[in-house]
Amino acid sequence: MTDHALGIAPTLATPGARRRSLPVTVGGLTIGGDAPVVVQSMTNTDTADAIATAVQVAALARAGSELVRITVNTREAAAAVPAVREQLARMGMEVPLVGDFHFNGHKLLREFPDCAETLAKLRINPGNVGRGAKRDHQFAEIIDIACRYDKPVRIGVNWGSLDQALLAHVMDENAARPTPWETGAVMREALVRSAIDSAEQAVAWGLPRDRIVLSCKVSAVQDLVAIYRELGRRCDFALHLGLTEAGMGSKGIVASTAALAILLQEGIGDTLRVSLTPEPDGDRRQEVFVAQEILQTMGLRAFTPMVTACPGCGRTSSSYFQQLAKDIQDFVRARMPQWRLDHDGVESLTLAVMGCVVNGPGESRHANIGISLPGTGEVPVAPVYVDGEKTVTLKGDGLADEFRDIIEQYVARKYPRKRRSP
Ligand code: SF4
Repeated sequence: MTDHALGIAPTLATPGARRRSLPVTVGGLTIGGDAPVVVQSMTNTDTADAIATAVQVAALARAGSELVRITVNTREAAAAVPAVREQLARMGMEVPLVGDFHFNGHKLLREFPDCAETLAKLRINPGNVGRGAKRDHQFAEIIDIACRYDKPVRIGVNWGSLDQALLAHVMDENAARPTPWETGAVMREALVRSAIDSAEQAVAWGLPRDRIVLSCKVSAVQDLVAIYRELGRRCDFALHLGLTEAGMGSKGIVASTAALAILLQEGIGDTLRVSLTPEPDGDRRQEVFVAQEILQTMGLRAFTPMVTACPGCGRTSSSYFQQLAKDIQDFVRARMPQWRLDHDGVESLTLAVMGCVVNGPGESRHANIGISLPGTGEVPVAPVYVDGEKTVTLKGDGLADEFRDIIEQYVARKYPRKRRSP
């Protein structure tokens, strides 16, 4: 007996209702409210090198980062921020810049007003704004500057730099409980309280509530989920998601995806960054691609055509199939910055590159454009399907070029050209 016969209809898992958060305007973007979840990233250049920083910001923005954070850690870096902005303007890039401040942010923002003016948002860590009696004074000074220049602020707590005085206070409270919490719960409570208390302090000093974004980053998936659920329950500030120090390669991608997918499915999160450690000489844009893929595969946003490819198996006749799947993925990424400018809706295009006749034709028919390569023992030809219909059969050395041409022509034909203002 099937589930249908029992009256159990298959249901689609859909993300929960989005948590209501206050919308925050950052440059021309909105974070929170009804706005789509925003993708952001961060440079790893020395900001004092304005050209190198602008080049990397531009690469991240072209890859799809809608905000880019830069380190502002020295007087030279603070002085270079307007030059980074100017260089980006020369490159035609308007992406909002976020300044990342620790320890000396109050001094740098005071000494370099052009830096404060140029940045679209300030990011501070309440555990790193100052120690002891100086902490509140320095924190207040940053908030005062943010108010003066109309800048939103991300109050970003990180468990590696948690305010130790607050942690000690929460531990004392815990010790007085009839049944004290376990250590992890105390740490999580201190993180959540650091973020919310700091935000309320900023509000008391005059920063409007809709100019605050909160984050509370840890490196363990279950802790992150628990912390953000609590943050989401206790406040209506916009939330920035991210697993800190996620690590390299597949570990970093899997851990970030596991954590962020749970929260996004529950409607928690207004912007996100995937903090991957790049391989030596690796591509910094990978963190942007992963962030986009998390949102797109969950059906929350569409950024770029998705390429479906089978994993290959004993029926796959050669590595040509894997090479073609990679070529097509690279081709789409390379073309997307221009397609995005020229064609409305192209990000919803779906492609399939399949390895043999078992699932190849079926999966290819489900995509807008699919190709089913010949498996072992099959006739060496590759049928191409467009919108579910077999249109042509490709073979020989020019197959990859011909398939790319089919994609290019489909994009030109199916996605209307954007109107440009005169
Ligand atoms: S489509 Fe063919 S080659 Fe690809 S995994 Fe399935 S059986 Fe293997």
